[in-house]
Amino acid sequence: MSNALVSPLLNQRKPLLSPCPVCHGTCEVKITKKGKPYVICDPCGVQLFVRGKGGIQRFETQNAALEKVGETLSASVSQVR
Ligand SMILES: [Zn+2]
Repeated sequence: MSNALVSPLLNQRKPLLSPCPVCHGTCEVKITKKGKPYVICDPCGVQLFVRGKGGIQRFETQNAALEKVGETLSASVSQVR
């Protein structure tokens, strides 16, 4: 069990936002009990789960770019690469 991968997301204070793949509206990003991110769009009924390690890293990088607080995130991602 390693929480290192998902801890940056869990440590986010601001709610993360991600575009809906269907309506391209802004959706809230939530975290599962297992620490994996998922996107919910209420109007579309979309539930988009990011389950793979690579996907979670990309997702974090994407959100870091959006939020422009990605210094620690991109540092941890570049360590993995
Ligand atoms: Zn939608």
